[in-house]
Amino acid sequence: MATQEIENLFTNIVERVKSLDPENTRKWFDDLSVGYFNGGSLRIYCPDESIAQYLEDKCKSTFTQAAQQATGYLVSVDFSAAETSKDKTEEIDISGLKLHPDYTFDNFVVGPSNRLAHASCIAISHSPGNTYNPLFIYGNSGLGKTHLLHAVCFETKRKNSNAVIRYHSCEDFVNRFIRAIERGDLAGFQDEFRNADMLLIDDVQFLSDREHSQEEFFHTFNALYNNGKQIILSSDSPPTEIKSLEERLISRFNWGLVTRVDPPSHDTRVAIVQKKSHLRGIGISDDVAEYVARKAQANIREIEGALTRIYAVAATMQKPVDINIARAALGGHAMTEVRHISITDIIDVVTDYFDVRLADLQSKKRSQSITEPRQICMYLARSLTRHSLEEIGGHLGGRDHTTVMHACSKIDKMQKNDTKTQVLLAQLTKQITQSPRG
Ligand code: ADP
Ligand code: MG
Repeated sequence: MATQEIENLFTNIVERVKSLDPENTRKWFDDLSVGYFNGGSLRIYCPDESIAQYLEDKCKSTFTQAAQQATGYLVSVDFSAAETSKDKTEEIDISGLKLHPDYTFDNFVVGPSNRLAHASCIAISHSPGNTYNPLFIYGNSGLGKTHLLHAVCFETKRKNSNAVIRYHSCEDFVNRFIRAIERGDLAGFQDEFRNADMLLIDDVQFLSDREHSQEEFFHTFNALYNNGKQIILSSDSPPTEIKSLEERLISRFNWGLVTRVDPPSHDTRVAIVQKKSHLRGIGISDDVAEYVARKAQANIREIEGALTRIYAVAATMQKPVDINIARAALGGHAMTEVRHISITDIIDVVTDYFDVRLADLQSKKRSQSITEPRQICMYLARSLTRHSLEEIGGHLGGRDHTTVMHACSKIDKMQKNDTKTQVLLAQLTKQITQSPRG
């Protein structure tokens, strides 16, 4: 095959992968290239090791399937970071670290919920061992602890490619320890861990109730700490609340900085939705980002799940992502009900429900019986249509965008704090999205 033909084939394969597996598709798929293709096997060159690892773990079977569809026969696929980097000086060797290519500082959205944890990680990347040692980050699942730990690894490697970094889940640390004992090679294990320049252990709550591993970890900690090496730990709870953790470990974990990550605010969630969709190479409008942020509130994994569902629905319907697709994916409505919603649809349902007239909503009246339905109209128009704040204000008596914004945040707060509003909004939304219109 001529080079051009191979390149066309490869483009075809990548496009197929994108539609077969939107969840794992990333924008940087466009940076992949063909290492070689000899008919039976295809080697794909990747910009770096973490990307090769990611593709090997998550996308191998999809690439195999796509290659088979594109060629008509079975092709074995592998991924390699060799000889790929467009700019050699940028290349960082992170082999063996198993880092997720998405988990960089660039891809991390900073907000009030994670500002301190993020700032400490940045500070450590600039000057490991000298600022906070150890750094202990805790918080519920899905709030970005692992992401931050990986980001420190990437950044430290970028600054100092010779740094010996060990990043492990605590479970991995424990399993390696047990295997080393079984093999009778404890010295080898200790060598590996105690000679690192930086040690990151994710989910240290796993040490809970594990006496021998705690003992070993204690000595690992001391060896590194005494040599001024950086230690970063993450956990689902603060040191004192990890069940059956030895006192001496609790006290050491508290020596440096202990910082918590909280669930993200609405604005941070919106920014995360935008960041994540950008990473997947799919644009998302502000109203969809707002909508997803409202739907997925508990943690960021939920946001990613929501995006995946939206992309799947859009792919099935072969339509670009918009608010109706998002509603269909997350609102639990049947996909056939996806259709355009206008502000008039919303006003119809709301005036009907509250038994008020449109003229009242548009008037200057400020009694609660009028302001409430007016504000609900604004809120629903914001979440169910693509109209701007100005346009929504225009439909409701020429009110300016700050009034609409105020209404939206007021209703949003209400629905978060009382179930009655939540139920009411759900009921109205259902009527608006499902009632037949001629
Ligand atoms: P944890 O380790 O706290 O359970 P993770 O680090 O695994 O959480 O995060 C779960 C997902 O959420 C990951 O895909 C991660 O990239 C994403 N995530 C978490 N916080 C942020 C953030 N502030 N900005 C962007 N993505 C985030
Ligand atoms: Mg984690």
